[in-house]
Amino acid sequence: MTDIAFQHPFDDDKLHEECGVFGVFGNVEAAALTALGLHALQHRGQEACGIVSFDNTQFHSHRSIGRVGDNFGDEAVIAGLAGHCAIGHNRYSTSGEPALRNVQPLFADLGHGGLAIAHNGNLTNAQTLRNELVSRGSIFQSTMDSEVIIHLTATSRQARIVDRLTDALRQVVGAYSLVVLTSKKLIGVRDPMGIRPLVLGRLDEAYILASETCALEIIGAEFVREIDPGEMVVVDEDGITSHRPFPTHPRRFCIFEHVYFARPDSIFDDRSVYEARKRIGAELAKESHAPADLVIPIPDSGTPAALGYAQQVGLPFELGIIRNHYIGRTFIEPTDQIRHLGVRLKHSANAPLVKGKRIVLVDDSIVRGTTSTKIVTMMREAGASEVHMRIASPPTAHSCYYGVDTPERSKLLAARYDLAEMARLIGVDTLAFVSIDGLYRAMGETSRNEGQPQYCDACFTGDYPLALVDRDGGQETQLSLLNERR
Ligand code: SF4
Repeated sequence: MTDIAFQHPFDDDKLHEECGVFGVFGNVEAAALTALGLHALQHRGQEACGIVSFDNTQFHSHRSIGRVGDNFGDEAVIAGLAGHCAIGHNRYSTSGEPALRNVQPLFADLGHGGLAIAHNGNLTNAQTLRNELVSRGSIFQSTMDSEVIIHLTATSRQARIVDRLTDALRQVVGAYSLVVLTSKKLIGVRDPMGIRPLVLGRLDEAYILASETCALEIIGAEFVREIDPGEMVVVDEDGITSHRPFPTHPRRFCIFEHVYFARPDSIFDDRSVYEARKRIGAELAKESHAPADLVIPIPDSGTPAALGYAQQVGLPFELGIIRNHYIGRTFIEPTDQIRHLGVRLKHSANAPLVKGKRIVLVDDSIVRGTTSTKIVTMMREAGASEVHMRIASPPTAHSCYYGVDTPERSKLLAARYDLAEMARLIGVDTLAFVSIDGLYRAMGETSRNEGQPQYCDACFTGDYPLALVDRDGGQETQLSLLNERR
């Protein structure tokens, strides 16, 4: 089966998060709580979802293509996932083809018991490791990068599961936030740079792990703290323990979580995502405001930045673009030409508002530029006298290899054209992006620390914090560094 270019049901020209993870230990409604948590994390992946539970005797699993509400809305399905502990996963895939065998959590019966694993992120040496494992006799069930973690755990010579998993993770390079379920433990692990998010919560006696705090809110759980980069937390009948089995690295959390991926009501690093987005909009306005009558968000992801922009310059914030929320995922649009036709199904101009007005359109990012071009044309046809576009991130000129679905570099508008050419192609009077330092200022930093950047920002800068082993081959890898330090 080849990879089908599924279109995101909400935004067809956006980067897409690959996955959301959730885990519960110590609640009789573990599977129902997990389904709710996955529902709150639906924005992180709509292609497929799954839950694995354990009932003190056996594991139960339900994995399906489609969204959480379609697969876990049935009481009988939840009833079939008995037990006081469960993990779940939402998937939007770039690694592996979109088939049921790739839907997580992955489960394997290892020599010492069952192991279920849900992974958010992407391993940059997965193919290299897979080739080695296959040459030693491993038989893979999926095409997922995450499966190498299971095989490495299975073949570890350590005795305890925590040590076996540690052994496996010391061999991988890449971004990962994992939730793992065994017959006795719920384990949460974050990669040494903390590129992808993972938070810890508490609901009465139960411990919860989730990609974002919005998934704690939905079940009424209390936010305890973020899992630290390189930390492994182990929850069992005796409580929770924290381990630091990996060499320490400076934190490099994905800055795009703040720009676009995370839900605006989530909190990372004591920072509200919503407030961060408003501050990015304010920085953008300080750097590049154009005289105009109205500030208009490109819905929905441009909305908080547009609010911040409008408040900064004291202009009216108006809904000049109305979005149709009921598109569903019926559109499989394999070519750019057909993709062009889709935009008007999703967005309409509020023509009486924009007619004769100079407008500033605010969006979070430009990927291919196809949606931006159509929206600008729509605004001009609706009678806008000037159209200025402001983007609440620096130009996206590089692909992500750490768990975000990015087009190849040759398809990224900013990788192909300079600012003036992009403005001409999109059809705007002026175009500006927030600067990289403006983005960091919005995060509460004075600027990007060039020597040791505070975030992963590789899709803007090309400064990849982790080696791209499968892509580049032969380079010194984090693996070799880790092995040296062991
Ligand atoms: Fe996030 Fe971009 Fe880094 Fe990927 S490359 S982890 S999207 S900042």
